[in-house]
Amino acid sequence: MTNNEIWQAVLSELELAISKANFNTWFKNTGIVSFQEGQVIICVPNTFNQAWIEKKHHHQIIQSLERITALPIRRLEYKIENIKNVVEQTINTLPTPHTPIEAEKPPSYAQQISQQPSQTHGFTINPKYSFDSFVVGKGSELAFTAAKAVADRPGEAYNPLFIYGGVGLGKTHLLQAVGNELLRKNPQANILYVSAEKFTNDFITSLRSGGARDFQNRYRTIDALLIDDIQFIAGKDASQESFFHTFNELHQANKQVILTSDRPPKAIPALEDRLKSRFEWGMIVDVSAPDFETRVAILGKKCQEKNFVLDDKTLNTVATIVQSNIRELEGALNKIIAYHQLKNMAPTAESVKSILSSFDSTSARRSVTSQQTIETVCTFFNVSTENVCGKSREKKLSYPRQIIMYLLRNDLKMSFPSIGDELGGRDHTTAMHANEKITKEVDNDLKLKQELELIRQRLYINNI
Ligand code: ADP
Ligand code: MG
Repeated sequence: MTNNEIWQAVLSELELAISKANFNTWFKNTGIVSFQEGQVIICVPNTFNQAWIEKKHHHQIIQSLERITALPIRRLEYKIENIKNVVEQTINTLPTPHTPIEAEKPPSYAQQISQQPSQTHGFTINPKYSFDSFVVGKGSELAFTAAKAVADRPGEAYNPLFIYGGVGLGKTHLLQAVGNELLRKNPQANILYVSAEKFTNDFITSLRSGGARDFQNRYRTIDALLIDDIQFIAGKDASQESFFHTFNELHQANKQVILTSDRPPKAIPALEDRLKSRFEWGMIVDVSAPDFETRVAILGKKCQEKNFVLDDKTLNTVATIVQSNIRELEGALNKIIAYHQLKNMAPTAESVKSILSSFDSTSARRSVTSQQTIETVCTFFNVSTENVCGKSREKKLSYPRQIIMYLLRNDLKMSFPSIGDELGGRDHTTAMHANEKITKEVDNDLKLKQELELIRQRLYINNI
């Protein structure tokens, strides 16, 4: 048999066991790259497919390969590769005819949840993001209540619901919790969770392939649309236009729309006014950083979920050191658990502190470069680095430029002459002036303060 024939046989078995849509999503453009001495390498188009196939179908594939080839499979690996590059190979299999396995029993509820969105998009709702696993604190109370109201009365309570806040504060968690709850109540509901980037990419692909109508139908025939990080749609005119119409149709049909963003609609630059105003039709809620008690409660809950015991003193230490956001808090906890499990020892004050030293924000700042700072600020304000480093004094450019200078000075501790150099060879006095200006304004200007906080989160927290 050739590797292609073997793979087709495997696929025909798999096809019986899982839904068609799911099958098409995950197994399109897969194939056997090599098959040697019980070691099989399968090519997959991207990491997302790989993760899914590996998690859900690894053993099934092995069993199927063994049945079809009558050879023992010792190892199954995955490689991200274009199917077109796969070379035909003949494998000496024993001549046993294969019998397809019987179709499996209907998928469980958990499978349904994760399969539902993938039927159209391959982006899944994570069942672990539920209302139950969300710890409510002062900073998230309103957002939590609004999200629950929407899950109870979709299309009626608040439409759209717009949740905004900094990195790692639970926006995606809440958004998906609504999706999970809607699916729990009605497993047949067509809930679509998608990032704004994915929405944009899908839209562009549909234009290229002439499938604009399919795209419209796909997005406009759903029961609820959950779009994560909508700020990324800003500045992309055609996608905004398409989203505007999608939004209107869904809204008119009383279908729920929920959006998340790192900023309130008004503060998203290059977002069309008509979209800003649409977003304000429903309810806008923010999530802010958790206070100490909430951080301790979150850590406690995560320990429970992970079946790991940490004494109160250690929980307090972690909650004291890691303050910025919940993703980081969870990361710190994972590190502590992994370390102590590996060493097979109980946590002590010293071991915990030494593990957490990397969460100290000053050390994170040191590893960020001026180039990264410039790029992050430019992306944030949706302007190009060339223009920011160029001659124009337009406010749209001079403002981000001043913020860059301020950050390079305060966080990266660069000298004024080198800051001037970095920004297109400007004089050092320009950098000094910008730094003074922003320093003075930051105390009184709430918008500027929030912007700086968000930029710093993107820059330093994601770099830890
Ligand atoms: P965001 O989308 O705002 O960047 P996420 O929703 O991805 O943040 O949250 C980051 C991580 O922190 C996730 O693993 C999430 O489950 C967890 N998390 C965030 N907020 C809470 C909360 N209030 N209770 C429990 N876990 C939380
Ligand atoms: Mg998110």
